[in-house]
Amino acid sequence: MAEKMALSSKETGRQTPFHELSAETVAQLLESPPQGLSHAEAQRRLARIGPNVLEDTKRRTALRILLGQFGDLMVAILLVSAVISGVLGDLTDALIIIAIVVLTAVVGFIQEYRAERAMEVLKSMAGGEVKVIREGTVVSLPHSQLVPGDRVRLEAGDVIPADLRFTDVHQLKVDESVLTGESHNVEKHSEPLPSGVSHVLAERFNMGFKGTHVTQGRAAAIVVATGMRTELGRIAHLVQQNETVTPLQRRLSLLGKKLSLAVLGVCTLVFLFGFLRGEEPLLLLLTAVSLAVAAIPEALPAVVTVTLAMGARRLARQKALIRKLSAVETIGAVTYICADKTGTLTKNQMAVQILFRTGAALPEPLSGLPDPALLVMALNNDVAADPKGHFLGDSTEVALVRFAALQGYVKEELEHKFPRVGELPFSSDRKCMSTVHALPEGAVLLVKGAVESLLERLAPVWQSRLSEWEAQALQMATQGYRVLGLAVRHLPHPPDRWEPTHLERDLTLVALVGIMDPPREEAAAAVAECKKAGIQPVMITGDHKMTAAAIGHQLGILEEDDIVLTGPELDAMPEEVFRSVAHKVKVYARTSPEQKLRIITALQERGEIVAMTGDGVNDAPALKKAHIGIAMGLNGTEVAKEASHLILLDDNFATIVRAVRQGRRIFDNIVKFIRYTLTSNSGEIWAIVLAPFFQLPTPLHPVHILWVNLLTDGLPGLALASEPEETDVMERPPRPPQTSFLSGALALKVLWVGLLMGLVTLATQALALHLGSPRWQTMAFSVLCFSQLGNVLALRSERKSFFQRGLWNNKQLLGAVLLTVALQTLIVYVPALNPVFKTQPLNLWEWIMVGVMSTCVFWAVELEKWWQRRGHTGQSGKNATA
Ligand code: ATP
Repeated sequence: MAEKMALSSKETGRQTPFHELSAETVAQLLESPPQGLSHAEAQRRLARIGPNVLEDTKRRTALRILLGQFGDLMVAILLVSAVISGVLGDLTDALIIIAIVVLTAVVGFIQEYRAERAMEVLKSMAGGEVKVIREGTVVSLPHSQLVPGDRVRLEAGDVIPADLRFTDVHQLKVDESVLTGESHNVEKHSEPLPSGVSHVLAERFNMGFKGTHVTQGRAAAIVVATGMRTELGRIAHLVQQNETVTPLQRRLSLLGKKLSLAVLGVCTLVFLFGFLRGEEPLLLLLTAVSLAVAAIPEALPAVVTVTLAMGARRLARQKALIRKLSAVETIGAVTYICADKTGTLTKNQMAVQILFRTGAALPEPLSGLPDPALLVMALNNDVAADPKGHFLGDSTEVALVRFAALQGYVKEELEHKFPRVGELPFSSDRKCMSTVHALPEGAVLLVKGAVESLLERLAPVWQSRLSEWEAQALQMATQGYRVLGLAVRHLPHPPDRWEPTHLERDLTLVALVGIMDPPREEAAAAVAECKKAGIQPVMITGDHKMTAAAIGHQLGILEEDDIVLTGPELDAMPEEVFRSVAHKVKVYARTSPEQKLRIITALQERGEIVAMTGDGVNDAPALKKAHIGIAMGLNGTEVAKEASHLILLDDNFATIVRAVRQGRRIFDNIVKFIRYTLTSNSGEIWAIVLAPFFQLPTPLHPVHILWVNLLTDGLPGLALASEPEETDVMERPPRPPQTSFLSGALALKVLWVGLLMGLVTLATQALALHLGSPRWQTMAFSVLCFSQLGNVLALRSERKSFFQRGLWNNKQLLGAVLLTVALQTLIVYVPALNPVFKTQPLNLWEWIMVGVMSTCVFWAVELEKWWQRRGHTGQSGKNATA
């Protein structure tokens, strides 16, 4: 079988390495016919060899996650103490404690397992695609589906998906720095290398390696190794893996550790203090350990992962694909969005609307040519027509070709008459492109490009008309048109030197064309939303300053005092000067991708959080450097996608703004969850710690502590993750990025609301004891449980009241609250459960008292929000969410 052979030559024999064999031999060896593998054969190989992915060594199995839940020291101590107490006395006690601990572990397991799964789904969504030939047709497949023997097509901007042997190359250059550390691009060919000498990786000029990328040219190749068998696979453990924890998760687990220490300290004190008061040591131990288990926020990191991952899934449905989980948390804090104009802010549907002929007389040998302006439009491009007659290619060029075709200048026909003998491809430095076509006598050079580029290259005779043409172009640009110049030059014979400086001179300008690329309908609204949300949108374009300014005005990006800066102006500007004005520049025109890096750096040094879009190979450094690098899903190269944090599936600016909205929502929900959990925990601690100071017996039995923890943390806490965004998420400034989670204001809230919760519990207990009710413990227990529900309902909105926010927009939370009430009622009223949960049925008056006392926390939190809405910021909402 093919794969057996492929493997054996790689694994065992290593007889002749692939780079020393001819492409034909490699194809034979891997049973790779020219028309590609059949789908069935590819499936067979995939089943045998496995997907083309690097295995993640850190992946945890379900069992490991489950066992991890019990590995916690405090849980272990609790289980041991429960067993001891079971042996020494109360068996039901021991059993119920064990049961609750197991249940809590299951809840924790579900959370972590969901987090793990969600991460995997995300990873698989974010993988790249490659063009493969299967059964004679070119199909686009995820990298993971490749098998040895597959034939792939690559072009500039593609990431090489597996180790492969080139069979056919055209001016191919590959950046192999990830593997070899060499920063210059390697030129590749398809000839076999001499045998007998050993070739290090960097010298295998006919091979491509997984993880490197094509910077220039195109190629066809046969896959020779996939997944862990590739050169990259061998060093996979050395390669910097995709981040596994986000900064947020790191900060949280740090917070968790600090809190755990504090809780342990408190629990030790509870034990010592109670022991000195002469309480029963075993029960005391159980109480202290239960409190530790309940109050240590061990679920925080998992819940945060689930919330982030769920957010990422929702974003994917809204056409924003998250590649790095940290982007979900960062994007809500973004202060600058720097977006490319064409395709992101505009529709990228260019159409020629103005054709201005200069009337300049052509040099003598060209005077017999058909309309030279239309000739340049039809011939000077790399547009291809598909079988259905659709034009494929660069949108500017498609606009020109379409316009010429409508005037009867059809590209294919003209190419017969004037065959192309060579070209100087477009580059964003020269901002023009040339093609050379054979004539009966000599050849003609056709040029199109930015007007100022062409004006520099005109024949001296046109000196007198420069200012006239310049003015004409400027006038068109001011109306928002992309203006291109069309020019020609006669060549006595086809050139032997293909250098721009040598060829692109002595031109005659024949026409100026005005191309309109209308703004996207949603763009202006999205820009306005950004500004309201304290985010500055910035437009970056290769277009002329005036064109850019006109579109900037139309979209509302550019206002009165804002600056439009061009690439050349930026280059001429000293660093300090640029840094001092960077925040005022709203439009960058005539920029090249390299300048994006300078723009980001200047903004970041001012403390801004920058999102930046990009699509080309040259954009990759800027995408990496940005806080949020955004790649175009439709028109972006694989390299740009690889370097990005987020991929826009529809290339649309409005989608970025939607992602910011989601990011803010997710962050808010995480803060709400933290606030809720920590408040609940501090409530339990206060109740136990303060009881002796009021001469009260310990209000809660260990079973109660564990039960409250299981119910309230498990259900309503999780439902907070699906909380819809607050109506004003996009009407407040971005949160300051580096503030700690447990900011002073939030810590204060956690402490005072927790204290109130503890006091209300103790007050109920004291009142019940005073009234002589033997059911004081059940009452205190229920008040603690229900107070937490009141708390969760009140803190759903940071500033708005519960009554403005309504109840119905988070059905999960409503369900969780009702279920908690039902379960609590059950253990109070079902006789069989009373001995197990140490409860007694309450009479009507007691039940009413519990109800009234439980709402205290709710009203207090609502009152605080009301106070803040009245303008008394004190502990402002802004700080609290930080
Ligand atoms: P944006 O940054 O808004 O997406 P862009 O990426 O098209 O614009 P560049 O590709 O750098 O910007 O183009 C800069 C200028 O070069 C254009 O304004 C146009 O004048 C000229 N130009 C663009 N494409 C071509 C082409 N294919 N041939 C000749 N000139 C071109």
